[in-house]
Amino acid sequence: MRILIVEDEHKIANAVKQGLEQQSYAVDVAYDADDGLAMATSEPYDLIILDRMLPGSTDGIGIVQILRKQKNHVPILLLTARDKILDKAAGLNAGADDYLVKPFAFVELIARVRALLRRPKQALDTSLSYEDVVLDTDNYSVTREGAQIELTAREFALLEYMIRNAERVLSKDTIMSHVWNYDSDILPNTVEVYMGYLRSKIDKPFPNKPALIHTKRGFGYVFGKK
Ligand code: CA
Repeated sequence: MRILIVEDEHKIANAVKQGLEQQSYAVDVAYDADDGLAMATSEPYDLIILDRMLPGSTDGIGIVQILRKQKNHVPILLLTARDKILDKAAGLNAGADDYLVKPFAFVELIARVRALLRRPKQALDTSLSYEDVVLDTDNYSVTREGAQIELTAREFALLEYMIRNAERVLSKDTIMSHVWNYDSDILPNTVEVYMGYLRSKIDKPFPNKPALIHTKRGFGYVFGKK
């Protein structure tokens, strides 16, 4: 996995580079916005760690906007100074995937990096697929083996979350916090109930295909081939 760091504070940039290299990532560093943008557009990085405030003709947010305009969906972790924490919304709106407030602990950075790299490449596209299940977030359609599947809005949200996190064990709490908001009426068995609905639509009608929704007793659920 190849990572680009764009950070003008040499000390931070070099420490992060060294730490990531110890984790066996291939790391390049740019110390200003123009070099960073040039490298980001010319090399196939798997992840970019991007400081918000940078010297040069643009800044971190500008770089995010330019890359996304070029349809470059490389995962971007934005670094934000503590007093600029309100910028995080602007960064995420521009298309960054995550942000980290400086100063940060390296263990936290590495956790974010790993999480971003685990995401399927297609995470930012509107069409997601896993095996023969295809989900389109533009028109809310789902198909398996080409057959249209009718889902409610909540079932769709649940399936989208499961596909984006395919092959990972997800606890009920994690699923709940990503698919249901605070205002929802949630009963202790809500997740089970919805998993049952999804199974009856995604797995049961396709007995000749591998089941994709699995219960990990005591842990939660996994979406994926066994
Ligand atoms: Ca800076």
